[in-house]
Amino acid sequence: MGTYIKRELVYEGKAKKVFGTDADGVCIVEYKDEATAGNGAKKGVIPGKGAVNNRVTNRLMRLLEGHGIPTHFIEELDDVSAAVRRVEIVPLETIVRNIAAGSLAARLGLAEGAKLHSPVLEYCYKNDALGDPMVNEYHIVAMGWASHSELETIAEYSFMANAVLGEYLRGAGIELVDFKLEFGRADDGKILLADEISPDTCRFWDIKTGKKLDKDRFRRDLGGVEEAYNEVLERLFGQG
Ligand code: UDP
Repeated sequence: MGTYIKRELVYEGKAKKVFGTDADGVCIVEYKDEATAGNGAKKGVIPGKGAVNNRVTNRLMRLLEGHGIPTHFIEELDDVSAAVRRVEIVPLETIVRNIAAGSLAARLGLAEGAKLHSPVLEYCYKNDALGDPMVNEYHIVAMGWASHSELETIAEYSFMANAVLGEYLRGAGIELVDFKLEFGRADDGKILLADEISPDTCRFWDIKTGKKLDKDRFRRDLGGVEEAYNEVLERLFGQG
């Protein structure tokens, strides 16, 4: 394992801190137990969430790397932190959906749980003050947030990730309903999958019972939040 000396805090978000290190182009991500929902309107602490999200993210990033998706992940450092390649984040949330839920169900008047005939890709502009508005490719290119060819890469990686994660999670008895990805540019301009893939950023439903094993338990006050996060961890690591 590499040893990195933690340096300046470069970013603090709602669920993570990112530090520079003594190594060129390497950052340390530290996951927090704090949770927010509704664009910061609801706040709380989910004990152990940081460790679950770190370990689940690292496992899924490694899986995706193995399937040809370049990621920022370097290595896990401890329970709540990982070394990652420093990237310039593309200011988009890329969402892939397999089953109607959340904002899609609300916007189109669909029952939550309605099957979609094919996966849906959506982009939102990352801007808390504006409430992360949905945008399309034309907005993204016109605003200079990403080029057309970068978006092609982002879309390709997103659908690949959907296929790989969907199959892997099914093996753990989990239905991948929808999820959010973020991408960044490395120093050489290459697009890398970045940020996290965890119960904070995905909808995970138990395949048999439909039980929610993700942040919706916190968002919707369903109880058993900590247990659900641990359940995801156990299922993924129990799978070997
Ligand atoms: N999501 C996320 N961060 C956000 C918004 C959404 O990680 O700021 C994830 C969310 O967990 C879900 C997917 O993206 O897996 C789609 O979320 P949706 O648009 O349905 O919004 P929500 O119902 O969460 O407001």
